[in-house]
Amino acid sequence: MGPLAKTKSRVEIDLDAVKHNYREVQKKVKAEVKILGVVKADAYGLGAVEAGRVLEREGIEMLGVTNVAEGKELREAGISVPILVFGPFLQEEMRDIIDSNLTVTIGAREGLVFLRQVPAGINRKIKVHLKVETGFGRTGFWPGEVVEAACELKSMAGVELEGVYSHLATAMWREKGYAQSQFRLFKEAMDALEAAGFRDLIRHICNSAALIELPNMHLDMVRVGTVLFGQYPNAHLRESLSLRNPWTLKTRVVSLRELPPGHNVGYSKAYKTKHKTKVAVISLGFADGLQVEPMLKPSGFMELLKRMLKPLLQYLDIKRAAQPVFFEEGEGRVIGKAGMQLTMVDVSNVPGLKIGSWATVPVRRTAVSPLMPRVYFENGEIKSFREGRIITTEAKGLAAK
Ligand SMILES: *Cc1c(COP(=O)(O)O)cnc(C)c1O
Repeated sequence: MGPLAKTKSRVEIDLDAVKHNYREVQKKVKAEVKILGVVKADAYGLGAVEAGRVLEREGIEMLGVTNVAEGKELREAGISVPILVFGPFLQEEMRDIIDSNLTVTIGAREGLVFLRQVPAGINRKIKVHLKVETGFGRTGFWPGEVVEAACELKSMAGVELEGVYSHLATAMWREKGYAQSQFRLFKEAMDALEAAGFRDLIRHICNSAALIELPNMHLDMVRVGTVLFGQYPNAHLRESLSLRNPWTLKTRVVSLRELPPGHNVGYSKAYKTKHKTKVAVISLGFADGLQVEPMLKPSGFMELLKRMLKPLLQYLDIKRAAQPVFFEEGEGRVIGKAGMQLTMVDVSNVPGLKIGSWATVPVRRTAVSPLMPRVYFENGEIKSFREGRIITTEAKGLAAK
């Protein structure tokens, strides 16, 4: 029996959809604009290695990650396109940066200090992109500091300054004023660099939303993750390109039963059946990423009102509370609190379910554990299987569902 037959929950990934989305991105940019595919956070849950491989095969110019360790994983898997590390790194990561031939971002003086200490005699230069602070408030030199930093990098023998970039905070909004003001600051930095003789830098600021709606900012390269992996940065962008969803979380029914009216379900008695209810137990819980919502301070008064009203409407049964679970035979709803690894679903309206039936559950992709098995499909066939960090490509033994 192949490993697939034993997984009760898994993420299925359609690599053809990733290829399709990449081509949609290509259609949005001029031929001379490079594309950087962002594969941070395990490629937004798809699996960084398999997503990186397919993008490399499609001819993507660069990949992007947040951390050195993520870049190292891609190199160890044999990926050879340039990899830009967005996040700040620590001094002890210099060795991996050199060994894995990673391009780094320098956005503060500490980074310059680390680079100064690069051992003499490494046989290839460390490539660097300068980051400019234009309003995200995370990392980057102020526009007025950029030339000095560039000159300092130029003075280092083992370093090659290759690019300069910034990151937009609100590109997905309809209102583009803030993005434009960030771009103006970035332009100040670009102009100052140009005037100081730094002419051939790769300049980039666009993410997925800006790719679609701010073509005047494409510059030399765009950095896209969200659209590559089939999601829209904002609902109003749905019409602007046709993406395919490559990512589905599937799980199986492991128990089926009928509960009488007035019976409690799950921890804290959070749910009580109103009538006779057919209940399926699915092999998925919050440890797998089900029902995890970040609790942030409401961004404004309307947001606060919405958050307060929602449970009230749910309590009054005006709005459906629970999260949907899709079966081939119909749609169920989670009842009670999701357990750690098992969750109850009201399937009263789903005929013909059996133990072992498959369900599709919409969840936040990046909340799903990297340990959850991933099954990759290409050209309609199973191409590979990942369990933990181990990828199996041997088709034999990958028993389909
Ligand atoms: C995540 C990230 C991106 C990609 O953003 P999307 O909106 O997912 O396309 C681009 N640049 C940086 C620096 C990022 O961290």
